Amino acid sequence: MAEQLNPFKIAQAQLDKAAKKLDLDPQMHAFLREPMRELSVSIPVKMDDGSTKIFRGFRVQYNDARGPTKGGIRFHPKETIDTVRALAAWMTWKCAVADIPYGGAKGGIICDTKHMSQGEIERLARGYIDQVAGFIGPEKDIPAPDVYTNPQIMAWMMDEYSKIKGYNVPGVITGKPIPLGGSLGRGDATAMGVVYTIREAAKVLGIDLNGATVSIQGYGNAGYNLARLLTNQGCKIIAVSDSKGGILHEGGLDWKAAKEHKDKTGSVIGFPGAKQLTNEECLITKCDFLVPAALENQITGKNANSIKAKVVAEAANGPVTPEADEILSSKGIFQIPDFLCNAGGVTVSYFEWVQNIYGYYWSEEDVYKRLDKKMTKAFYDVYEMAKKESVDNRTAAYMVAVNKVAEAVELRGWI
Ligand code: NAD
Repeated sequence: MAEQLNPFKIAQAQLDKAAKKLDLDPQMHAFLREPMRELSVSIPVKMDDGSTKIFRGFRVQYNDARGPTKGGIRFHPKETIDTVRALAAWMTWKCAVADIPYGGAKGGIICDTKHMSQGEIERLARGYIDQVAGFIGPEKDIPAPDVYTNPQIMAWMMDEYSKIKGYNVPGVITGKPIPLGGSLGRGDATAMGVVYTIREAAKVLGIDLNGATVSIQGYGNAGYNLARLLTNQGCKIIAVSDSKGGILHEGGLDWKAAKEHKDKTGSVIGFPGAKQLTNEECLITKCDFLVPAALENQITGKNANSIKAKVVAEAANGPVTPEADEILSSKGIFQIPDFLCNAGGVTVSYFEWVQNIYGYYWSEEDVYKRLDKKMTKAFYDVYEMAKKESVDNRTAAYMVAVNKVAEAVELRGWI
């Protein structure tokens, strides 16, 4: 039978595995398997050539038992409602595992920003907010950036929402530029969180970070910042890739020059002095830490056997399929599951929201200190659960998260 690659079906299968281990009440299990609310919208956008193009957008609020829902907005040509549902489910578990008082949500628009002007992207961003304004809000549902969205897009979205309300509402969205109420440290928060979990994994596995080799799939916000921050920890970045292909230098890549090359040419490929790789080859490069930092379903039943890393640190959401999980686990590869590994972004988003509500802003040092504390605690909550219950780290992360969400659902008297 062909492997299941629908991200939402995968998210449900992951939950089912943990529910069984937790002996979860069947009604609670049924409730947690589906999103609570979904909105699907049409967004008419005036294009530069005078035509009007209709874009499809989604917002899914998966579960709000623990607080207002939270989750990014993704702009992608292959966006689907099931991807958004899966990402909203993972946000729910992520906020619970990181112990921040939010539920989970996600948004998406089917679009290809690589073929749109800045003006068209701005009108699309504002048009999306016009459609979902009644559905979101600082006490209801708080979006943020994700794949192919950035602080400038968050600024337009916050501005549009504030115009609709008639006053400034910085807390409606996070990942904003600093002058509009963004938090110091938010730009590299996801990568910083990944570094904290890699640091703790290295400790428990006895791997010396100094000289440890790293391969990173995806060289955007998460991937690039990670290359920078891991180099600061003494690691050697030997391979990176983007949507067009990858590059390898066993002696260590100049991560900064590779980024400049990508900014100039649109891709890391063709970077002078490096060997060219396909995306697939980047994943199976021999290294200590493999970091998928692009999209879902990258490590599957087809290539999991060829993975040669000691640790797979899942900066991306949903990069490993359940079939691949089994294979990696049987090979003794230590996985840092996505909603633990990449929880740094939402954690600093939460800090941004708190600062917006207080109107009082913290230093970068303060942000990183608080982030380190949250990520380290989340890592050991999951690690201890995995040891206690003799389960893999992903199932353990689900067990920690589902326990918290189920407790909130029960206390509210929903079930
Ligand atoms: P981004 O848009 O900044 O970068 C994505 C990168 O992936 C780009 O370099 C792109 O070229 C590359 N890419 C796309 N398809 C690829 C493929 N098939 N193979 C290799 N590379 C490919 O996005 P980002 O914000 O860095 O997000 C990356 C992942 O991290 C996503 O799964 C996202 O959900 C997750 N994530 C991001 C944040 C955040 O704060 N940015 C937080 C949590 C999780």
